[in-house]
Amino acid sequence: MLGPDTLAVVQDHASLTYLDHAATTPMRADAVNAMLPFLTERFANPSGSHRFARSIRQVVDEARDVVADVIGCDAGEVVFTGCGTESDNAAIVGTQRRHGGIAVCSQAEHHAVLNAVEHGGGRVVATDSAGSIDLHHLARALSDDVSIVSAMAVNNEVGSITSLKAVATVVREHAPQALLHTDAVQAPCWIDLRSISPHVDLLALSAHKFGGPKGVGVLMVRKGTVVEPLLQGGGQERDRRSGTHNVAGIVALAEALRLTDLERATEISRLEKLRNRLVDQLLMQLDDVIETVPRDRKVAGSAHVCFADIESEALLYFLDEVGICASAASACASGAMEPSHVLAAMGVERRFALGALRLSLGQTTTAKEIDYALTHLVAIVRRLRGVAP
Ligand code: PLP
Repeated sequence: MLGPDTLAVVQDHASLTYLDHAATTPMRADAVNAMLPFLTERFANPSGSHRFARSIRQVVDEARDVVADVIGCDAGEVVFTGCGTESDNAAIVGTQRRHGGIAVCSQAEHHAVLNAVEHGGGRVVATDSAGSIDLHHLARALSDDVSIVSAMAVNNEVGSITSLKAVATVVREHAPQALLHTDAVQAPCWIDLRSISPHVDLLALSAHKFGGPKGVGVLMVRKGTVVEPLLQGGGQERDRRSGTHNVAGIVALAEALRLTDLERATEISRLEKLRNRLVDQLLMQLDDVIETVPRDRKVAGSAHVCFADIESEALLYFLDEVGICASAASACASGAMEPSHVLAAMGVERRFALGALRLSLGQTTTAKEIDYALTHLVAIVRRLRGVAP
């Protein structure tokens, strides 16, 4: 049941300024329409043998073809999963269960990777100041017993891009036996996946980051790469991921990914202008604010800034008051605010790191929203500084 507070938010939703696309994206209307028949009359289980089931299996196969085309891989290399977290875990845990050995990743990975690596006793290496894995540290961490290296394509917090080609070169030289996995969950809106996939053995995606539904993801598993499945059961996905297919989710994922790929170049140039205007104006109108990652090292839709002597929590509270949805990843540990693990890894000065703000733009973002956010953000920062000691 929806309570009165929830209902108010739902009714009010149209008036919100949503700048949190890195957290999740609104679903594309075409993706919603694509999935509806599979939630209603076309409900058969694609693993069955009757004609109704076979017709649904064909739909899943067509979706697989679309996904493979956008990733730049063979259809047989596409495994549908339940989310990005599952895809990352399947790659890391599945590799270790099958091949043993040690997993390696950087300090700035999403916790879906970082926790899986740490849980398995893996090695965590340093990042550079932009939040990309430090290639010298990586080279030093590689040895004969490393079975998998995981490097994210785009950082979810600060938006920095990692060259998988450069990572692959280091891995092939220092640990040729190791698989290379990339968490590409934040990549599809900004990077042509065909430029990433040739360099990796495993690649994770999540539909809700590019206009698809929550609860469905992809793990690309390169032909000849064998990882132990996380889920044992009916042997779906050619024994790589058991569990009845989320047909509606898979169909919507494919449609959202197809459209994202088609519109990527246009969207990047539109959103880059809006992002630049937002950050340029913040830097011009306020003192003691830094742009966390240089623009030539990050994706177009990410605005990540740090305000000195302000706490992100307060900033988010006042932004929320005026209907602006944003985020910051500082964590409250034992009653005190701590910088996020990503900013700590990048070496951002604590005074700035505690005032981090992530504004992430996407398909629905308009110039009007950017102007609204800018006006309020400047006023809120000034107000907070006025009362701050
Ligand atoms: N990896 C990255 C980089 C992410 O941003 C996220 C989601 O925030 C995930 C993995 C987890 O994806 P999901 O929400 O589908 O489990």
